[in-house]
Amino acid sequence: MPRETNGKHKEEKCICCIKTVKWIPVLFIVAIIVWSYYAYVFQLCLITIQSSSERIVLLVVYHISLVMFFWTYGKTVCSCVARVPEEFRLSESEQELLIHAATEEIQLNILEIFAKNLPVLNRTLSGGIRYCEKCHHVKPDRAHHCSVCGECILKMDHHCPWINNCVSFSNYKFFILFLGYSLIYCIFISATSVQYFIAFWKGELEGMGKFHILFLFFVALMFAVSLASLFGYHCYLVLHNRTTLEAFRPAVFCDGPDKNGFNLGAYNNFRQVFGNRAIIWFFPIKSSVGDGVSYPVPRQHSKNSYHSMDTTPVR
Ligand SMILES: [Zn+2]
Ligand SMILES: [Zn+2]
Repeated sequence: MPRETNGKHKEEKCICCIKTVKWIPVLFIVAIIVWSYYAYVFQLCLITIQSSSERIVLLVVYHISLVMFFWTYGKTVCSCVARVPEEFRLSESEQELLIHAATEEIQLNILEIFAKNLPVLNRTLSGGIRYCEKCHHVKPDRAHHCSVCGECILKMDHHCPWINNCVSFSNYKFFILFLGYSLIYCIFISATSVQYFIAFWKGELEGMGKFHILFLFFVALMFAVSLASLFGYHCYLVLHNRTTLEAFRPAVFCDGPDKNGFNLGAYNNFRQVFGNRAIIWFFPIKSSVGDGVSYPVPRQHSKNSYHSMDTTPVR
């Protein structure tokens, strides 16, 4: 086999290995859910709990919270990332011009002319048009290059290894719901298993199943604590219309950085992510407002009459 083909083969194998390894955290979460199902349904509800009315109520509520948790998790994992439209990409000749430009000023001019008709408000710290040298396109507002995904992602929040996906415009609503429903799932398990956890320490439980109940309570409580802080933080971000990246580095506009640059007021901010139809707010069904490329901004940031929402700026 020629050396070059051999090298290519090895490289492909390596990429395949990395892709497989990235699924390990997702498999870990699925394994925990499957085990928690066995421990809660079989060991706690069907074997340990004696009252049939208590058993039925717990099983019904448990299965509803499990379905919502699994549904939102699946949608967060399987959503395609929101990609940058082609009109933001420089043609080959424009890329050549940019690379061979004699000065940085000329480069900035080329980008400025290219982006003249694009709905772009965000700037670099020095005031220039944001450009991705890896993807060769102008970055839409709130888009960032994800080094794990290897491309620019619209309204990138962060890359999450637990979902092996970017949290971005396309799945942010699903991600918030996933955090909320997984928190409810863990709180429900902890609250309904605590009396059997106490019974374990009093020596009132028998058989090997009692260890499943012991760990079930521990694991559910541990996840509930960490999920509560993450969910609380993301609720704060939604109500302030900020991504995790923007919370660390505010978006820059023509007049400088502004951490409230997309803040339209709590209710409008909520509707940006969850949509206008209250009936589907709490289901993992796509309802976020907009195209992910441009966003309404408070009046002081709007470019001419470019579609800014008529809302009072929130300060
Ligand atoms: Zn990029
Ligand atoms: Zn990513």
